[in-house]
Amino acid sequence: MKDNTDTCEARLGGNWEVISVGVALALSPRPELRCIECGGPVRPHKQANNGMRAHFEHRSRHEGCSRGSHFNGRRVPHPDALI
Ligand SMILES: [Zn+2]
Repeated sequence: MKDNTDTCEARLGGNWEVISVGVALALSPRPELRCIECGGPVRPHKQANNGMRAHFEHRSRHEGCSRGSHFNGRRVPHPDALI
């Protein structure tokens, strides 16, 4: 299963706000971005030439998040979660 999330939280003006991947790609400079579920840092990816749509991926592999591609079935906070 691939990461297929198209929303995340961005630190904007001191608050975490949910934004879409399209917004994240357009923001410059890019704010800190984290996964809505586990809080781990994520990176936005543009739509790929192979048709895979724009999406966020965790910067580091995390098995405790159902929004990630390595979910092992048990949800735990990301060890590098942004707070
Ligand atoms: Zn996550």
